[in-house]
Amino acid sequence: MPELPEVETTVSSLKNKVLNRTFVCVWAEEKSTELEKIKGKKIRDVKRFGKGIFISLSSGDTLFVHLKMTGHLLLGNWKLVKDPLDGKKIWKAENKTMREKVNGFLRYVFFLDNGEKLALSDLRKFARVSVFSKKEAENYIKKLGPDPLLIGKKEFKKLFAKKKKEIKPLLMDQNFIAGIGNIYASEILFKTGTDPRKKASNLTDKELEKIYHATKILLKKGIRLKGDSTSDYRLLDGKKGGYQNHHLVYKRQGLSCFNCKKKIERIKVGGRGTYFCPQCQR
Ligand SMILES: [Zn+2]
Repeated sequence: MPELPEVETTVSSLKNKVLNRTFVCVWAEEKSTELEKIKGKKIRDVKRFGKGIFISLSSGDTLFVHLKMTGHLLLGNWKLVKDPLDGKKIWKAENKTMREKVNGFLRYVFFLDNGEKLALSDLRKFARVSVFSKKEAENYIKKLGPDPLLIGKKEFKKLFAKKKKEIKPLLMDQNFIAGIGNIYASEILFKTGTDPRKKASNLTDKELEKIYHATKILLKKGIRLKGDSTSDYRLLDGKKGGYQNHHLVYKRQGLSCFNCKKKIERIKVGGRGTYFCPQCQR
């Protein structure tokens, strides 16, 4: 699932490419009357809160996109053509990168006033696209925990101290701290030598401080590398990000730890696959 670095990369590229563009019309695989509201509206701003994309419109509404499991936004050009096999209409991408299979599950196509199209490709169909009023956007943001890139050290330590829950699911709880998911949580806990099953309340002040710093360092590294394309996440132009080539433990089960050479294991913590080194993380 796209996490903070992936969503941040998408948001900053959107800001570069579509600011002040107007939505001319929308095509949706499943008809949506809600989306009629964005027609003729100008894109005033694009922001990230947690893992959510907030596109502010000239009407005061917000086009909200949550990529969930396999969703990603693409900017390019497609044409509706007839499938030679069954005669159904399908979107045909104009270039090779966009024709990569992962980019071909278009659920929404937004037509912009410069002729370009913004599309959402989503294999598993969990992604959410909604039009929020000002109040709805505010309410959504209010429920999120603080942003790990903006939170201060003192506030971070206070947030985690005395929490009885295991550290890994806490890091991934969007209402507690918003933006971290399975990839970066695994990486952060390896970098700090923390057992992902350890209860936050059992972590020392020093350990929490380490987690605080590692969180910022790794999320920023993720952004620098334009996100992680282990799964379906892609950049706006359909290309892959780079973080998947820098994993410390994520999806490295059975391979040697970069620190101690012991084998990385995969266990379940809070119901989620968790990668860790049993030697380095205690
Ligand atoms: Zn190790």
